[in-house]
Amino acid sequence: MNFKWFQNKLTFVMIPEANESVIRVKLSRGTLWGTTAAVVLLVVTASWIYLHHLHTAASMYMQKAALHGKTIALEQDLQNKNAAIEQLHNDIFALSKQAAEIHHKMEEMKRLEQDLQKLAADAAGNGGAVVTSAEPGADSSAAYHGLGGPEWPVSTAEIRKLASATGAAYSALQTEMDKLHTRFSHSKQLLQAKLEYQRRTPDIWPTLSRIVTSPYGYRKDPFTKKLSFHRGIDIAGQLGDPVYAAAEGIVDSVGYDKLHGHNIIVEHTQGLRTWYMHLNSADVRKGVAVDKGQTIGKLGTTGRSTGPHLHYEVLMGDKSADPLPYLPSS
Ligand SMILES: [Zn+2]
Repeated sequence: MNFKWFQNKLTFVMIPEANESVIRVKLSRGTLWGTTAAVVLLVVTASWIYLHHLHTAASMYMQKAALHGKTIALEQDLQNKNAAIEQLHNDIFALSKQAAEIHHKMEEMKRLEQDLQKLAADAAGNGGAVVTSAEPGADSSAAYHGLGGPEWPVSTAEIRKLASATGAAYSALQTEMDKLHTRFSHSKQLLQAKLEYQRRTPDIWPTLSRIVTSPYGYRKDPFTKKLSFHRGIDIAGQLGDPVYAAAEGIVDSVGYDKLHGHNIIVEHTQGLRTWYMHLNSADVRKGVAVDKGQTIGKLGTTGRSTGPHLHYEVLMGDKSADPLPYLPSS
């Protein structure tokens, strides 16, 4: 490195107006280069700082805009959530009211079920009397509109309590409904059994006529005039009158012989049978099912008979029973 080169002086001459003196500035080359380098460094540094500031400002602006967007979205979200919570509160309130209404209906159903049980348990029967429960008092609150009073906001704890109570009410209702279902099923079975029993009990007149010419029990035989036991009742009627099955059942036998004439036996239940004798004709075949009141033959005077009549017997196994107490009075 040549030091002298740096120490060499350079003279700058500034010439102002013509009448003024010339200004001479003597500077070494080193000073000149140093000053130039310092100015260039200063300009570069200033530019870098300015550009950095511009970048930071733009970045902050972008962040601020993004934050503003997020805030709006959050506020909207909060509004939606508040609306949803309010809706849930209203739903809980509506459910709690509904639970109370269902409970009220459940009480009515319990009363109805009790009535059904009474009907089913009444094995003796009362000719189909219908037991009706008292009409429940209608909720007339809807007819009035006068509402008011100060507003008391409901706390979250109160809402939780209401929700919890509503949940418990529904659980209790579920249990009650299960119990009621079991009881209804039991009542239904009892009623079905009772209806079946009624259908299979010979308790209607097997003829149009209600004229009993010979009752059940001891009598003088119309042919021999000797004391004998009459195992059924004789009902007088017109030749060809319909003869009805006194109860639902299956035709056990259809036959003819000199003693009973054309005759039909119908089996009802557990050895209970009815026997229809001296028919003009039988209209059913053995093994067919017959309903209570169905025509099974025509009234006649076949067999050991003095005139058109039906000899009607009720049998329990081999033993006969007086049919009259089971027949409605004429
Ligand atoms: Zn007879």
